[in-house]
Amino acid sequence: MKLYSTHNKDLSVSFQEAVFNSLPADKGLYMPEEIPRLEPFFIAHIAQYSLQEIALKVAQAFIGNDIPAADLKALVEDAINFEAPVKFLSKDTAVLELFHGPSYAFKDFGARFMSRVMGYFSKEETDLLEVLVATSGDTGGAVALGFLGVEGTRVTILYPKGKVSKVQEQQLTTHGQNIRAIEVDGTFDDCQALVKQAFNDEELSKKLRLTSANSINIARLIPQTFYYFWAYAQLKSQGISELVFTVPSGNFGNIGAGLLAYKMGLPVNKFVAATNLNDTVPRYLVSGSYEPKPSVQTLANAMDVGNPSNWVRIQDLFDQDLSEIQGMVSAYSYDDEQTREAIDRLYKDFNYIACPHTAIAWLASQAYKKEHAGRYASVFLSTAHPCKFPDAFPAEVFAEITLPEGAQDYATQEKQATAMAVDFEAFKSFLLA
Ligand SMILES: *Cc1c(COP(=O)(O)O)cnc(C)c1O
Repeated sequence: MKLYSTHNKDLSVSFQEAVFNSLPADKGLYMPEEIPRLEPFFIAHIAQYSLQEIALKVAQAFIGNDIPAADLKALVEDAINFEAPVKFLSKDTAVLELFHGPSYAFKDFGARFMSRVMGYFSKEETDLLEVLVATSGDTGGAVALGFLGVEGTRVTILYPKGKVSKVQEQQLTTHGQNIRAIEVDGTFDDCQALVKQAFNDEELSKKLRLTSANSINIARLIPQTFYYFWAYAQLKSQGISELVFTVPSGNFGNIGAGLLAYKMGLPVNKFVAATNLNDTVPRYLVSGSYEPKPSVQTLANAMDVGNPSNWVRIQDLFDQDLSEIQGMVSAYSYDDEQTREAIDRLYKDFNYIACPHTAIAWLASQAYKKEHAGRYASVFLSTAHPCKFPDAFPAEVFAEITLPEGAQDYATQEKQATAMAVDFEAFKSFLLA
């Protein structure tokens, strides 16, 4: 696969280069020069394949020339080693649960795949691959667990002190091995600024093989297409072939992957983007003018993004054609009060406990359905296990949440984190030590 930059279509880089750079120097985003189409025969018979088989087929279509077949098969099977079931809440509404991976969030798909791709391409290298990541919660956990034990790599995670949930902090700080956590006495933005400064530091770039586990990495986008095909396969096996996906959206990587799957030939009627009050995209789809705003804090904090970094990819997929995007994407936004009500209704009416991000997706899926009657199944994506967001629930509902296997173990493991002020020199000595 060759990739260009959304800022420069003449740029042509290899998959390996795009993976280690994350971002082109011109600050655009990498996009595949060609979107592979899956054979109609495969799509017609997709119901007979497993998630791993579908994942391999899709991965091959993108990077079959970059990683030999046997290696790619082993890589996919190692990365995608958990379930992603579709569960029906009613006759025509279903939830695609993407939180059955090790960090209990859909980011496991991207992080596990990317870590193994980076590990694969680092095999011949003698220097350790130093992965730096700033997190507001979910990304760090997925990256830590994704890279845990991957040979030739070491991860340094920066997270803001006191601003992540208990389960999230445990997922960042209890591993040891090749994972190190720094608890920064500051905000997420401070963490991100320290990471950026490290990449711009000449001495560090010279002495260390640095890379970023950024969410815009192309090796995180590709594996997120897998589960759209897999959801379709599950519905197809039940005789359903028309569907609308609703995706809780922050940086718009998840829904961007869905739209990429659509461009690869996946039959989907519509994508619905569900946001919290950070509603830059819903406003854009109505007004046609893209006006990002500073992010506001909400209950669904993994979607607190004022200027979604993957939106340019979606525009690129549709050749900047607003009316074409409007034809394929609808969007709705909700405030915290509506989110809490939705959590409550899902619990009372369907006995389903959803994390706030997922609850927002359910609201949007219902709003879309009200406006667009049809015979399609409405599938909303559940992006995280509710146990990661204790503040979002009344105590009696939280008490009803069944912890995933392994979650209890974290509680007994010791936190290992280096406390640090917002101080680049301290961060730099830590990295060089
Ligand atoms: C990251 C995240 C999102 C947002 O996904 P994007 O790809 O950034 O749109 C939604 N829900 C949860 C739980 C997340 O961790």
